Formats: sequence, C-alpha cells, structure tokens
Amino acid sequence: MDFFATDIQNIRGIGAVKAKAFAKLGIRTYRDLLTHFPRAYIDHRHTVAIADIIDHIDEYVTLIAVVGSVPAPHRIRKGLTICRLHIYDETGRMQITFFNNPYLKNMLRAGETYAFYGKISPMGTTLTMTSPTFEPYRADRPPTLRPVYPLSSGLTQKSIAAAVGEILPLIPSDHDPLPEYLRQRLGLMPYAEALRAVHRPQDDEALSRARYRLNFEELFYYLLGLSLLKKRARKPNRYPARNSDGSFVKLHNFTLTNAQKKVISEIRNDLAAPHTMNRLLQGDVGSGKTLVAGDAAWQVLRAEHQVAIMAPTEILAAQHFDYFAPLFEKLGKKTVLLVSSLSAAEKRAAKAAIQSGEADIVVGTHALIQKGVDFKDLALVVTDEQHRFGVLQRGALTDKGAAPHVLAMSATPIPRTMALILYGEMDISVLDELPPGRQKIETYLVTSDYEERLYAFIEKQINASHRVYWVCPLVEQDEESELTSVEAQADTLKSRFGDAVAVIHGKMSAKEKDAVMTSFARGEISVLVATTVIEVGINVPAATLMIIKDADRFGLSQLHQLRGRVGRGGDRSYCVLISDSRSDSAKKRMRFFTSTTDGFKIAAEDLATRGPGDLIGARQSGEDAAHLIAQRCDMRQVELAQRAAGYVLEKDPSLSRPEHRALLSIVMEKFEQSGDIFS
Ligand code: ADP
Ligand code: MG
Repeated sequence: MDFFATDIQNIRGIGAVKAKAFAKLGIRTYRDLLTHFPRAYIDHRHTVAIADIIDHIDEYVTLIAVVGSVPAPHRIRKGLTICRLHIYDETGRMQITFFNNPYLKNMLRAGETYAFYGKISPMGTTLTMTSPTFEPYRADRPPTLRPVYPLSSGLTQKSIAAAVGEILPLIPSDHDPLPEYLRQRLGLMPYAEALRAVHRPQDDEALSRARYRLNFEELFYYLLGLSLLKKRARKPNRYPARNSDGSFVKLHNFTLTNAQKKVISEIRNDLAAPHTMNRLLQGDVGSGKTLVAGDAAWQVLRAEHQVAIMAPTEILAAQHFDYFAPLFEKLGKKTVLLVSSLSAAEKRAAKAAIQSGEADIVVGTHALIQKGVDFKDLALVVTDEQHRFGVLQRGALTDKGAAPHVLAMSATPIPRTMALILYGEMDISVLDELPPGRQKIETYLVTSDYEERLYAFIEKQINASHRVYWVCPLVEQDEESELTSVEAQADTLKSRFGDAVAVIHGKMSAKEKDAVMTSFARGEISVLVATTVIEVGINVPAATLMIIKDADRFGLSQLHQLRGRVGRGGDRSYCVLISDSRSDSAKKRMRFFTSTTDGFKIAAEDLATRGPGDLIGARQSGEDAAHLIAQRCDMRQVELAQRAAGYVLEKDPSLSRPEHRALLSIVMEKFEQSGDIFS
C-alpha cells in the first residue's frame, strides 16, 4: 500500500465529520495533507510593538499583547458579524477586528496574553489587524516558528497541525519522487526531510532549504509537463503561406521599427514552417503590435483562408475593426465585426458570412467563441491583450478551426522566466522598441489636496482641444472604502466643466460605452471619467492627460497600461497619480513608477513587490497550475527547473526509465486535464 495514498481517516482523531472538513480543502490522502503547506509562519522571535505598527502597514506581523475585553459580536448585516476588541502591550493599545467568529468569547480571555498574527491594515483613521490567527502566549516556551495553515470551516490550526504531527514520523524516508542523480546535482533536501521541516521547522535554515526543495519540485514537474505538452502540441501546418508579401505593411505611411521587422519575419517563417505557429507576441504599450498582427493575417488571407481576431472588450474590438476593415478592403478582403451588442439580425448576418466564407477576417469579443459561430476555414487565431483571457477561452477559439495558427498578443511585458511558466507551450517574440518620435510621458505623484490646481491644468488641455482621462477605482460611492467613485468624481468635474465631462464604466452597456468613446475620440467630450475599462488598448491620439485617482490601489502594470493611453499623438503628454496612501511600500511603488516608462522594468518591479497577480491577469485560479506556481516562484529557480527538465528529457524523452517512473505518474496527474499529452 502506498503510504502517500492512505486515506486520512486512518489518522487518530479524524472521523467521517472531520474528514469532510478536510475534503473541503481538497485533502483526502496523506499526500494531500502533507502537501497542504503552511501559508505562513508565526515568528515569535520577531514581534512588533504596538507603537511601531505604523511602519508595517500591509505587512503580516506578530503582536504579543494582552486582551482588554471581549465584547459580543455585533451584527452588521445578514450573515456578517463583526467583533472589535482592544489589545495592549507596554507601548500602546489598538483595535483588532474579527468577522463572523461567534466563538471568540470562548477562545480569548480578557487579561490574558496572546500572540496575534495578521496583516496590519488601515481602518478609517487608525490601524487594525483583521481576523488574525492567535494562540496563548507563554513566556517560558522557547520562541519558534509556528506554521499557519490555510483553513476551511470546521478546522482549526490545531486540528491540522495535530493531524500532520501524527503522520510526520511515519513518512518512509527512502521515498523521493525526484531521481537521486538530480537531487545530488542540485543539492536538494530529501523529500521526507523536507516535509518534516516545512511542517515543523527547527530553524530558518532547515525551513528555507525545505521550501526551496518543495518549490523547486513543483516548478520542475510543471515545466517538465509543459515541455512534453509543447512537443505533442506541434501539429502539421495545414495552411502553409510560403511566399510572404508586404502589401499590408505598404498601406502604412511610416517605416517599421527594427523590432517590428524582426518579429514580422519570425512570424512569416512560422507560417511557412512544417508545424503550426503557436506564438506569444509581447510588446510594450504602443509598440505597434496591431500592425504585426495585420501582416500575419494578410499572409494567411492571401492563401485564401480565414482569420479571427479576438479582443477582450467591445471598445477594443470596434477599434480593431475600424483599423482593419478599410485596409483589408483595399486588398480585396472582407472584414466583419461580431460582438454581443449587435442586433439579432446583424449577428445572424455576421455568422452567415463567417460560415459561408464571405467574411475573410472576423474581429470580435468573446462573442466569437459562442456556439453557432462556425468558420469555413479558420487558419489563424489572434488574441489581443491575451492576458485578459483564460487558457480555456483561447482554446475555444482555436477549436473553431482545424489546427489553426495561433498568435497571442500581450501588452503586459513579463520577464522571460515568468513567460516560461505561463506560456511555456508557446514560442515568444518581443517588440522591445517603440516607433520613433514618441514623447516621454511626464509623470507626477500628488496628494488629493492638489486636485484644485489640477482643474486649472485640465482646463488648459481642454482649451488646446486635447482630451483628458480621469480614472477612479470604483463605480459607485462606497462609504466603507472611502474611494472616490466615478460617479462622484464626474459630478465634481461637471460642476466645473459642464457637458465636456462624461462617464464610462463596466456597468454600462456596450452600446453606451461605444457611444461615449466615439464622442470622446471626436472631441465632443473632453474629459472622460472612467474605471479601468479604458485600461486595455484604447487609442485616442488627442488624449494628453491621464489622471489616476487613488493610484496606490492599482498594480504597477495596470498603471503602466493606463498611462499608455496618452502620449499617442504628437503632443506633450502627462500622467498624474493622486494618492493619499500613508503606506511606505505604496509610496515607494508610486515613486518608482514616476521614474520610468520602461514596461519591462515596471513588470519586473510589480512582480517583486506585489507578486504575479496583476501580470497573470484574468486567469481564474484553479484554471491551470501556472497560476498557483507563479504565485510563489523565484525566477532563478524557474531557470534552474527548466534546465533540469531539459536534462531529464534529453536522457529519457518519454520518462520510461525506472528512476523516472514516479516522475511520470506525478506529471501525468498534474496535467490530467490536458488528457492527450501522453497518448
Ligand atoms: P500596441 O502595441 O499597444 O497595440 P498599436 O498597434 O495600437 O500598439 O500601435 C500604436 C500606434 O502606433 C498606432 O497608432 C499605430 O498606427 C502606430 N504605429 C505602429 N507602428 C508604427 C511605426 N513603425 N511607426 C510609427 N507609428 C507606428
Ligand atoms: Mg494593442
């Protein structure tokens, strides 16, 4: 019997009821339990005094403090109770906040000292710690690292730690899914030892070696699987386009950047190669990706096949349609638009044209992947701003054809190693050069008491027939969060600039948004108050001023996208970040942003300070392993894991040797959804 496959109900203290609670966390076997890693450690050796929490906003810290009193929870609304209690140490007192915890009265006693572990966050004008984990503090116990596990209802930190404690001593110490030769070479801690150390760390060094090994292992399996996947995914090119043609490019009255030339030739080569193209095109905002996509489309269109271009928003789809339709018409090709806001009759006509082949290029949104959209001969799929789509959505469009070429474009430049994880199955091209003559966008950071002066600046822009964006994080006024909403902001601006001001946000219908964007582009509207619906790809060359309210709420890459909406014409352009955040880390991020316009630098900084969430974009969690892995990866480790995967596969391309048997079964399990990769 495989130890790791044992049902957790064999553990003392786990019966049917507890097992159900564990199952909610996906824990059914010993392996599940042992790989349910702590999300953090309470480090009793490094605690923060209450007087110093101001220096730790947005950080997880441990406070050793006495509980003042434990009031009964207070009901805020249906299904939500809150309990605020005071704690104190020798340096001061503060409030901590718990939501939906009816048992606090049994768990905390007034006058006793506890170690609280949680994140320091602002609440109104003070600071609080919300729903911390805690345990009674005992001065006589040596300070240690105590694991903090992700929980589900019905489980406590104690119950998980106890269950883990039961089986840690039983782990067969000779078992290791990584082949011995690899472990030796890389100096990795053995599996059993790593599991023990990660759940019961004796010291920092053992813990960090254990985490290193376990992280490495995940990356390694993942990259190994991707390499296998990439090999299998190569399909014969059914739409070879051999003699490339420059007619599409010639329709433009500017010369290509060297980067565009290079990428265009990479893509043309792909289209003529024996296998289908599967390429990611990364390029900073404004680097001219659309033209490159147009050239690729043209090569395929010339060979009498169809092309689909999918964008994440209707605004962007419409913009692409407006660009492509007249150009391809000159080349004798017909473009149709398919978005959900079309009337039923228009949709029917578009679908008929797509099916009959009358439509050569189809530009659209998610509407393209609906049932009932059938192509006659789809040979190239382009997804723009592809980080906004999930893997499944991209796949759905590809499935509309018989092994079409794929070109995915992204304006969020991500470091190479990151791309390797997220798009390991793709080849990657980079547009690392902007067309000449682009203005550097002057960027400033101000506090909200500066707004009055900004109005004068806005007025100047309006008088010069320029356009202004004013971006806010939320749609409706939300009292709790104190963020200025689009609506409230628009009211303020309207009182100043009247009808020159309009609003755009995600809750408006596509038709409404479209109408607003059109009047903005035409200049009937000068100031557009917006949520991040305008983040993606919008091109209004007359826009010269981008104001971003509560800028600290946005990720750097998102700010970079927003800033990229201005400076698209010849006029001097500006970006103003408004932020009243008192957090040092937020201030640092904002200041960094004002210091550079290099998208790659910004992405790298974002990754370092906020983790990869923003870079990964709309991928839903659980949709693919990349998401999880990217959350906690170390870039050097990725490179190493990639090399290790290459090394193993070179030795044993199908992982059939005995020392790789454990590997193969793990990789197969992880890539289960990709089904056919090993067939
Ligand atoms: P992005 O990469 O952000 O999608 P676009 O494709 O929208 O960028 O291009 C931004 C602008 O730059 C467009 O107005 C486009 O016509 C223009 N452009 C593209 N390539 C060049 C070039 N080589 N020289 C000058 N302008 C260019
Ligand atoms: Mg674009």
